[in-house]
Amino acid sequence: MFDCNNLSRRGLLGGAAATLSLALAARSPAAPPPGTANPAPPSLTSDQALAALKDGNRRFLAGRSIEPDRGGRRRLEIARAQYPIAVLVSCSDSRVPPEVLFGRGLGELFIIRNAGNTVDTVAMGSLEYAVTELNVPLVVVMGHERCGAVAAAVSVVERGTTFPGSIGRMVEPIIPAVLAARAQGASDLLDASVRANVSRTVDRLRRFSEPMLLDRIKAGRLRIVGARYDLDDGVVDFFDEGQAVGAGARR
Ligand SMILES: [Zn+2]
Repeated sequence: MFDCNNLSRRGLLGGAAATLSLALAARSPAAPPPGTANPAPPSLTSDQALAALKDGNRRFLAGRSIEPDRGGRRRLEIARAQYPIAVLVSCSDSRVPPEVLFGRGLGELFIIRNAGNTVDTVAMGSLEYAVTELNVPLVVVMGHERCGAVAAAVSVVERGTTFPGSIGRMVEPIIPAVLAARAQGASDLLDASVRANVSRTVDRLRRFSEPMLLDRIKAGRLRIVGARYDLDDGVVDFFDEGQAVGAGARR
């Protein structure tokens, strides 16, 4: 019988990830009997959560992804409560599945996906729920190479293209990012727009969110970072990481 937990711990215990792995393991107690309290909440800081994602992407790149917690035992552990370590605002693109890119299992990532990784009202409400109700310490806004939604926004700006149905309205929030990238004279307008689209969202979340999020940022209990996934080499490049405000701040 495959023991995913032991396998995960063995892999993570090598080197600098030992402390992190202990923290991750600590949030996976045995499933409570019916009618009892939920498992203890995790105690990861924002920085530890970010380190876990970076470590998972390194393992994905090395082709040595540890079997994530996706088995029946894990399913039962989290059946009554979820304690994800990060919110991912990511693109719907089929080549960009966050659990795979970060080597994570059931109950670890709270994922908001739409074409172009924008944050509309529904996405914002989902994000607020994850942070305030589930105490998620980290939000990652992740764009990716050759994003079709961003390419559509570039086409609108460059060629006045119109799209059928709701596609045009869907990419409208990306257009300011394209205009900003173009104003900076980007040689690769599409890729610069991908990054600008992420950066603008990160900046908006950090500065113009409701107090329920801003208070946590100020208190060092929430960190919001940007990232870009490279389709060719599999690297998630984190940028706009901001201040490591979560260091030592446990929930
Ligand atoms: Zn995309």
